[in-house]
Amino acid sequence: MPRCPDTVENVSRIPQPTLSLQANFASDLPELSIPWQAEETPEPRLLVINEPLAANLGLDPEWLRSQDGVGLLTGNRVPEGAAPVAQAYAGHQFGSYVPRLGDGRALLLGEITDTGGHRRDIHLKGSGRTPFARGGDGRAVVGPMLREYLISEAMHGLGIPTTRSLAVVATGRTVLREEGPLRGAVLTRVAASHLRVGSFQYARNHEDPAVLRRLADRAVELHHPAAAQDENPYLSLLRGVMAAQAGLVAQWLLVGFVHGVMNTDNMTISGETIDYGPCAFIDAFDRNAVYSSIDTGGRYAYGNQPAVAQWNLARFAEALLPLLHEDQERAVSLATEALGEFPREFGTAFSAGMRAKLGLPADSPDETVGTLIDDLLALLQQDHVDYTQFFRRLGHGARGDLGPVQAVFTDRPAFDAWTERWLAFGPDPAAMERTNPVYIPRNHLVEEALEAATAEDLAPLHRLLEAVSEPFHERPGFERYAEPPPEDFGRYRTYCGT
Ligand code: AMP
Ligand code: MG
Repeated sequence: MPRCPDTVENVSRIPQPTLSLQANFASDLPELSIPWQAEETPEPRLLVINEPLAANLGLDPEWLRSQDGVGLLTGNRVPEGAAPVAQAYAGHQFGSYVPRLGDGRALLLGEITDTGGHRRDIHLKGSGRTPFARGGDGRAVVGPMLREYLISEAMHGLGIPTTRSLAVVATGRTVLREEGPLRGAVLTRVAASHLRVGSFQYARNHEDPAVLRRLADRAVELHHPAAAQDENPYLSLLRGVMAAQAGLVAQWLLVGFVHGVMNTDNMTISGETIDYGPCAFIDAFDRNAVYSSIDTGGRYAYGNQPAVAQWNLARFAEALLPLLHEDQERAVSLATEALGEFPREFGTAFSAGMRAKLGLPADSPDETVGTLIDDLLALLQQDHVDYTQFFRRLGHGARGDLGPVQAVFTDRPAFDAWTERWLAFGPDPAAMERTNPVYIPRNHLVEEALEAATAEDLAPLHRLLEAVSEPFHERPGFERYAEPPPEDFGRYRTYCGT
């Protein structure tokens, strides 16, 4: 018998039939979990939803738009059996250790298996105060949550491991910030896990030493399963995380990304980029680029990111020491030896990526390519050349059109000499176009989109999302998204007070 079409009322009451949220983290690691609930949202309104990601998760986007769906996205209506928790973690913030940070305004709703068989955390940010909130109000606001949505999805488009964004819902609540009263919002974040270096730091200080081992076993199982077979699985875990982070930070540098707040609680064990707060992409190349208003010492500057990653990994290694060897001196030497590999690991990933950006054959000799890269970066630094546009135009240069790329260098003879050396490798322009993005979420475009969104116009945000979701595919109508900022854009500043 044909079914009557559902009315909106009916649709809003239909539960997503297959949705079950597992609580494996909470049951395996109760010492790192506080069962908690999201605060009520007075007037929730869905602002943006990621339909391809929803489909990937096996969630019906139409259902997510319904009252029940929005209830899930705010944590107000969780499926039966779900057991949301606030996760505990510690962390070094700008180098100072804080033994208990935890999710002050976030909740792990639960875990699901996506259509590809991958386990995913469903997590809310801005869902209200938790016992970890300290002085905070537990809330988040529309602008920064849309910013995280946009930039994380741009990172995904660029092929960089990242947490993803499923939706942003305006809560209908007014949130007080320094700038004044702002509209509250909740972001739904999807991640391979929320295990952080800071989770290990927290577990290391737990009175029961079994907690650390259980956490490490979970990390091995989720992110480095091959390590389980190794003679020393926890040393393999350390090496695995190190390799993932070396590769990740190399990819950041290759696209000009500055994370901005690489505290140890913002570094994942999975190797995904997490916590899009004061991050930004460089326009003009500058190794010293800093955007965050609170990073006054430049600790998290663009070019400092590999060194910081290594520093954070040393904190990870310290937390793992009891598991590495029963003789702690031996444990320290195993950890030190493993960490010593980081610069080589990072260097290999970075130069492989640069080789691709320059269209060079994979078998071109390391040493000559190494100096070619160093010399180019020095030239880009000297003239503060627009990083993204340079590589895209250099691709045209490989096809014979060098004019536009030459024009931006003041020391033309030096650039011409460099070009000659580069062309001698026979760079492949098609390969360069597959590697060098045309569209990145440039700061002026992000600000423009967020300003409009704050005034209830989401069209510019959707348009920018369209550009950055397919960053390598140059399309007519998107010309302005490929351009450097206008001269009067000035110095860009980002804020942590999100
Ligand atoms: P983040 O800078 O987002 O990595 O956050 C660092 C720590 O501050 C984490 O423990 C957060 O949960 C907490 N936090 C940030 N903002 C708030 C807020 N508005 N209310 C409560 N906790 C917060
Ligand atoms: Mg954080």
